[in-house]
Amino acid sequence: MTEIARIIQSHGKSFLVELDSGRRYKATARSKKTDLAVGDRVEVGVLNEEQAVIERVTPRQSLLYRSDEWREKLIAANVTQIIVVLAAVPSFYEELLSRCTVAAEDADIRILILLNKADLPETAAARKALAPYQALGYPMLELSAKESVEALWPYLQGQTSVFVGQSGMGKSTLVNALLPEAQARTREISEALDSGKHTTTHATLYKLPQGGELIDSPGLQEFGLRHLPADRLISLFPELRQYAGQCRFQNCRHDREPGCALIAAAEAGEILPQRLQLLRKLQLECKKSTH
Ligand code: GDP
Ligand code: ZN
Repeated sequence: MTEIARIIQSHGKSFLVELDSGRRYKATARSKKTDLAVGDRVEVGVLNEEQAVIERVTPRQSLLYRSDEWREKLIAANVTQIIVVLAAVPSFYEELLSRCTVAAEDADIRILILLNKADLPETAAARKALAPYQALGYPMLELSAKESVEALWPYLQGQTSVFVGQSGMGKSTLVNALLPEAQARTREISEALDSGKHTTTHATLYKLPQGGELIDSPGLQEFGLRHLPADRLISLFPELRQYAGQCRFQNCRHDREPGCALIAAAEAGEILPQRLQLLRKLQLECKKSTH
């Protein structure tokens, strides 16, 4: 007999799974071929008090990847919201935000721009720089994680969220405010899996006391996008997709071609030049279609 469980921590080939009842088991996959990630809902067979075997993974609503030098690895499954943590100080890379919006559009999940450190006077300039992204339809919330994270609670309800941000933006401060014992709990969970071995930090899924779930993936700065087919990229930019097919040349790379609808739109101030630049960059990074 199998039961449905959630993967709440992944250590390569061994996992920690949790049943609805809250019971936790160490688990490995029956088939070594299955790629599994934190957030996956899986069918498990319970072996004994401590161990279970993962028989299969149930269909995923979404999947996020991390890029390393060689390949794309799964970070998390069934995430419904990416929260991009930014702050005026230290300065942030706008491109990182756009890359997150592309990952979110691809996975068909929500984006929330979280402008942290709202107590700092430099915040006004950051707010201004981010206004065009709000105009694209991406909601933004300002707060000061050091003071209070209450304003974030309604956004977390009913969602499985993941924080992403460059270091220094305040991710750990946020996670600690939301889950005061998070680090101690991560350690406890890791020790249960690795029988006390010293482990590096792993993505962990937490149920938030205020509602919703948080997948904490320490060090998560960016999503992998290299698995995206190059010819699908334009559809992942909500303000650019209307220009698809409008260029003079069907195979336009929107680079220097005459009659390019996107270059014209950028020159007319209808689109942000840095978004067009990212589209070009991703076209080079991403998979060429094979048809
Ligand atoms: P992480 O690298 O993204 O995990 O960032 P941390 O949570 O370690 O925060 C980086 C620095 O920013 C620390 O010195 C924090 O105390 C500070 N910080 C975090 N949140 C706020 C905030 O809301 N306001 C101010 N002024 N500083 C903050
Ligand atoms: Zn073009």
